[in-house]
Amino acid sequence: MENNSNNPDYSHTDTNKVVVSNDAWKKRLSPEVYRVAREKGTERPWSSAYEESKEIGTYYCAVCGNPLFESDTKFESGCGWPSFYKPISKSSIIYEQDSTHGMRRTEVMCGRCGSHLGHVFDDGPPPTGLRYCINGVVLDFAKAQEAEKKYNKENNE
Ligand SMILES: [Zn+2]
Repeated sequence: MENNSNNPDYSHTDTNKVVVSNDAWKKRLSPEVYRVAREKGTERPWSSAYEESKEIGTYYCAVCGNPLFESDTKFESGCGWPSFYKPISKSSIIYEQDSTHGMRRTEVMCGRCGSHLGHVFDDGPPPTGLRYCINGVVLDFAKAQEAEKKYNKENNE
């Protein structure tokens, strides 16, 4: 979890759009988050701890805190980046055609702050058939506390 004390727009509940200049983001975000989120960079494959994580909880935009994906829509894609088949809501994500690098891809961005997250492909599992391939560095994860308590209880008794 980033220290968000210098990022006043970060919120898990506020749904108002965040419009902040890249100059201001540069001061607020770590260089790696800035590079991926604001310059459409890509983290090295297999570099995110979230790639293999099976913890139960919610993934948020690391830039603005917008809820993006629930852990139960995460799956093992083998592509090297955290992968999900469905965003939390239609407004979680915005889409744009991306024809850079000689490929036709669909870019996915945060629906609240417009930060680059990754791409979506149509080779995912049911029920959506979609694979949201997301840079782990632009995700913040919060464990579901109820689920964790239940898990601990079941495994300690
Ligand atoms: Zn965001």
